[in-house]
Amino acid sequence: MNKASSLRLILGDQLSFDLASLQAVDIECDTVLMVEVMEEASHVPHHPQKITLIFSAMRHFAEALQQRGVKVQYVKLDDPENTGSVPRELERWRALLRPDEIHITECGDWRLEQSIKDCGLAIKWHSDSRFLCSRAEFFTWANGKKQLRMEFFYREMRRKSRLLLNGDGSPVGGAWNFDAENRKALPKGVRPPSPARFTPDAITRDVLALVAKNFASHYGTLDTFDYPVTHAEAQALWDYFLDWGLAAFGDYQDAMACNEPFLFHARISAALNIGLLDLRQLCSDVESAYLSGSIALNAAEGFIRQLIGWREYVRGVYWLKMPDYADGNAFGNSRSLPEFYWTGDTQMNCMRQAINQSLEHAYAHHIQRLMVTGNFALLAGIAPSQICEWYLAIYMDAFDWVELPNTLGMVMHADGGYLGSKPYCASGQYIKRMSDYCRGCAYKVSESTTGDACPFNSLYWHFLMRHGDRLRGNQRMAMIYKNLDHMDESKQQALWRRGELLLAKLDEGQSF
Ligand code: SF4
Repeated sequence: MNKASSLRLILGDQLSFDLASLQAVDIECDTVLMVEVMEEASHVPHHPQKITLIFSAMRHFAEALQQRGVKVQYVKLDDPENTGSVPRELERWRALLRPDEIHITECGDWRLEQSIKDCGLAIKWHSDSRFLCSRAEFFTWANGKKQLRMEFFYREMRRKSRLLLNGDGSPVGGAWNFDAENRKALPKGVRPPSPARFTPDAITRDVLALVAKNFASHYGTLDTFDYPVTHAEAQALWDYFLDWGLAAFGDYQDAMACNEPFLFHARISAALNIGLLDLRQLCSDVESAYLSGSIALNAAEGFIRQLIGWREYVRGVYWLKMPDYADGNAFGNSRSLPEFYWTGDTQMNCMRQAINQSLEHAYAHHIQRLMVTGNFALLAGIAPSQICEWYLAIYMDAFDWVELPNTLGMVMHADGGYLGSKPYCASGQYIKRMSDYCRGCAYKVSESTTGDACPFNSLYWHFLMRHGDRLRGNQRMAMIYKNLDHMDESKQQALWRRGELLLAKLDEGQSF
């Protein structure tokens, strides 16, 4: 009896040998299909380094599969037969190979998954087992809850994974969360390690040339590309972090410093999100580092929470709420994204630092994204769809399932508080406390209403005043509104006027 043949589509963020749709692959009669398509590379203007990372890692992965004896049909971007979209390539190869079955692991992007489903092909879909929590499991957990809370979900994941648990199921250290210990600014004299860098090999150099030729209009430089593109390189990056970054990561994960784009951050999120690293192994390594006494509990717990708590939680929310989630705009924002987000051309030093390093490395850490560029977009009332597109385009690790909830929900509070219980709005004082940015700024963080006052200050109070109807009833905002109510009316008016002036400048396309 002839064995059934199958076509197994592997996407650019599915580069894991233990991917569900690669299990039980029969090297005699099955074919893996991998395609570089213009639609995925350009539906938003992705940073050229991000396109390079994905295409290069795909090519290396295809080569590794072939070395294991797997048949791979690999379609390069400039292949004259390339139809330019995943569903069309799938249809083309189905017609050419006539497989008995098509296998695909669920996508990381609702739009792409829907477009494949719209083909009408009979497909065996596989759950993405690289995540700790399946879509179905998350839906069950969320069922009947009016508002979700990451902290409770995270505890479930700790119990499920048995990470940092005592024998009786209680959390090691007597608490589930040590976040309060992870908010230190960087003291003078503390130097982060030099970043681990990976020199492009021949495959990557080919891809760099391809990307330079085809995506010249996309924002961001290619010259500094140094990301890991294979499993071995990603492992080397992770090992480097375990040796040199992890011990201080907990304390300084929220800190920011001029001309220090990486500090103690692992910079592994892109490698993890495309499948070059394994979530469970990373968590196990971090737990082992704690148990061996080489790192403190707050560093271990903080790292593990990011992975099995927040990362899994936002993925669950994404699949639970799409496609309507993408249209959220609770504050009714309509302001266009300022041009300086794409150029870094602003006098605000914090914004310039965060944007310029994003253009240079396709990277900024979570607090730069949340409390600098994101905070500004929230305070300035930028249309959520525009800031979401910017984050998706500019960051190496941004895929829709992780970018959209983080930006639309966490940064912009545009889902009306479904994901987070309050908006993460802050004045310049927060940025001053957590960085040295203000010392090198054209604006004075100590001022709010003068011509040289920090724009974050008046925009913060303007945001609170203009959205009082919606936010005053929020218990977690009560203290902030108490402070506003205790302010002189003349001060309130001056803040409002300065905020109006700055917003008018943005509307006129001016930078400041
Ligand atoms: Fe940013 Fe304001 Fe500080 Fe300047 S003064 S760096 S704009 S927070």
